[in-house]
Amino acid sequence: MSIYYRAAWVFPVNIPPINEGWVEVDNGVVIRIGSKSTAPPGFQDAQQQFEVHDLGNVALLPGLVNSHTHLEFSELSTPVGDPSLDFDAWITEVVKYRREKAAEGVEWLEETIALGAGESREVGVIGIGEITTSNSLLDCYSKLKTRIVSLLEVINYSAEQVSDVTTGVQDYLTQAAISGVNAGISPHAPYTVHWEQLKSLCELSKDFEVPCVMHLAETAEECALIQTRSGPLREMLERLGMWEEAGIPVESSFQQYIETLASSWRALIVHGNYLKHDDWELLGKLSSNVSVCYCPRTHHYFRHPTYALEEMLAAGVRVCLGTDSRASNPDLNLLAEVEFVRNEYPNLNPSTLLEMVTVNAAFALGLETTHGFIGTDAVASVLSVSLTKEEAGASELACLSAVLARLSEAQLLRL
Ligand SMILES: [Zn+2]
Repeated sequence: MSIYYRAAWVFPVNIPPINEGWVEVDNGVVIRIGSKSTAPPGFQDAQQQFEVHDLGNVALLPGLVNSHTHLEFSELSTPVGDPSLDFDAWITEVVKYRREKAAEGVEWLEETIALGAGESREVGVIGIGEITTSNSLLDCYSKLKTRIVSLLEVINYSAEQVSDVTTGVQDYLTQAAISGVNAGISPHAPYTVHWEQLKSLCELSKDFEVPCVMHLAETAEECALIQTRSGPLREMLERLGMWEEAGIPVESSFQQYIETLASSWRALIVHGNYLKHDDWELLGKLSSNVSVCYCPRTHHYFRHPTYALEEMLAAGVRVCLGTDSRASNPDLNLLAEVEFVRNEYPNLNPSTLLEMVTVNAAFALGLETTHGFIGTDAVASVLSVSLTKEEAGASELACLSAVLARLSEAQLLRL
């Protein structure tokens, strides 16, 4: 039997807010939502015909979606290295940590992932875009309460190995489907993925209809590599014996990478810290299947120049937020990212900010039919924020502003 929940405000996100709204739920899934005026017949005498829970003066929001993290670093209590390190030195530290931890086996990895998923859930996150570096975690992911989209990381700078690597990813996607785990592909970054490999993975994304997620334009060092084929990342590749002339296109640009990623079923560009006006314009045009993930506190940790969030939004870019991992962030608290953005961009419309951690993030990960909104077929795990009488009676914009200011008090309710 379905149950109705009444609330002073329902913020479905994909449609306008509803004052004095209700949400009908059956077995953990939303059946439909409505307002007083659209209540089903007999609703006013609900006690006889329906089970009704009046939640009172609260605002309901969808459970949140963290579009980008690497849960394998969830055990870290402080980030790896320190922000004054050059990027190639930081990456070297990360690889060292990974190598040490790999010796502890898959059980350690499973525990760490469960730890990070649990920490995320405590702050209302019910969906995670997770970069996966082991293909033995499907069982672990399928047992977690939080929906994981497992994005298999690909690192390959050898043209010779492109076909074998793509076949391996294809096998993983097939296994994930059998295990009932949402999956996708993550070509790591331009300095770790051969250009031919990237194109091959984008095709695979299209064939399997899964998201393709790539770190792009993250650092000044990466700009040097893409724009002038030089700098510390090229030196690092040469040192490791990995550099290939054809690893990046001859006259490469971020636009080429963006256009290629757009050939995927759905692409998520992580960071984009050093993209420029023309890139934003292109991303705005491609927003029907390309999104950008801004990781606010990680961006701040590495002391990059101010993030062009408002310019990107003005260009029509579909932006979502992510925490990135504990290798570059003190925790996995998505609410702290929201708070950071609220402080840094006080003129940002609160509904735009809410979209970044709900509907946009869900879309980027291919979860849009079940996550990121409150409505038919959505997972009925919602955030509840208590309202004062004044807030409950305020306009929708004023109410949402108040809700976002106190989002850290939100409780995750499984209706
Ligand atoms: Zn990342």
